[in-house]
Amino acid sequence: MKKLDISVIPGDGIGKEVVPEALRVLDTIAKVHGGLTLNYTHYPWSSEYYVEHGKMMPDNGLDLLSQSDAIFLGAVGDPSLVKDHISLGGLLLKIRREFEQVINIRPAKQIKGIVSPLTNPRDFDIMIVRENSEGEYSSSGGRVHHGIDEIVVQNSIFTKKAVSRVMEYAFELARKRNGHLTSATKSNGIVHSMPFWDDVLAEVSQNYKDIPTKSEHIDALSAFFITKPHTLDVVVASNLFGDILSDIGAAIMGSIGIAPAGNINLNGKYPSMFEPVHGSAPDIYGKGIANPVGQIWTAKMMLDHFDEMEMGTVLLHAIEQTLQSGIKTPDIGGNSNTTEVTDAIIAKIEELA
Ligand code: ATP
Ligand code: MG
Repeated sequence: MKKLDISVIPGDGIGKEVVPEALRVLDTIAKVHGGLTLNYTHYPWSSEYYVEHGKMMPDNGLDLLSQSDAIFLGAVGDPSLVKDHISLGGLLLKIRREFEQVINIRPAKQIKGIVSPLTNPRDFDIMIVRENSEGEYSSSGGRVHHGIDEIVVQNSIFTKKAVSRVMEYAFELARKRNGHLTSATKSNGIVHSMPFWDDVLAEVSQNYKDIPTKSEHIDALSAFFITKPHTLDVVVASNLFGDILSDIGAAIMGSIGIAPAGNINLNGKYPSMFEPVHGSAPDIYGKGIANPVGQIWTAKMMLDHFDEMEMGTVLLHAIEQTLQSGIKTPDIGGNSNTTEVTDAIIAKIEELA
């Protein structure tokens, strides 16, 4: 019997509504499938916690989390209680940084029952692998004061270590998916970092000769997400390019309420963290209409991470069949509530077993 210890942080707003629903789904899939025990430890760390304690998590918060196999997060941020930079910085960003979650993964997949804004898209199933620790998002640089001729320098930082590990992760994922790899570059315009990025790709690809690989310039690749997403599989990108592609990916999926994400620790020293792309959505919190699919799909990503692919596949089928049957929340054109959608997904899992 495989056993996983999961730290659960519902966080703020609709995170508190959709996380318990996703846990109900996880419990069902584990029970129906057998062979997996999930142990949850719940942490109430949130903006409300901050109001009471003056911090987003206790001083030994990271120690507590580090004992688990993974972190399952809802959403962080309630600007009516705490400024976003404090709530995000004190919880989400702190975990990402301290736990060396150097890679961010996000699927962009067309699922049945959701209308993509693309007209007549062919089935697409992309996984974006984003370098999450360096690159263009660097604090190196500054303003050089010269009166009206003021000059600003913004440096990008690329290290061999970080670029090779993100490439390796992407190749491994492509192999697992029996797929292929596309690297986002811009070596025709960014003449130092991007040729380096391409060189590392070429070097790492020597160990993955079975994986078809190509490079595309980021401008063309962004267009391909719209014009021919079905031709893409795993896409590896720098921090900035990956950020932009992830948003395009979420957009072509059809709703922010369904998209999941993973922050991956590679050295095995700390847990990885799984969270939906959406935020705490204060505008709909308390109404019971939050779409639980993003959080439930996030649970599938967590199962995939632990190589429980079969359970993940069943879960996704259950989501698709539920949405196709018209049971969906208002953000995707339905009139069901959060609990009804979850109940229907659970019933489908039991039916598919
Ligand atoms: P961030 O938290 O990244 O700063 P934000 O607060 O601007 O982002 P969200 O909280 O994701 O964004 O909400 C953006 C919009 O999408 C809101 O109108 C919200 O109601 C809607 N939304 C987000 N998630 C869901 C969901 N799961 N179900 C239904 N609607 C959602
Ligand atoms: Mg928000």
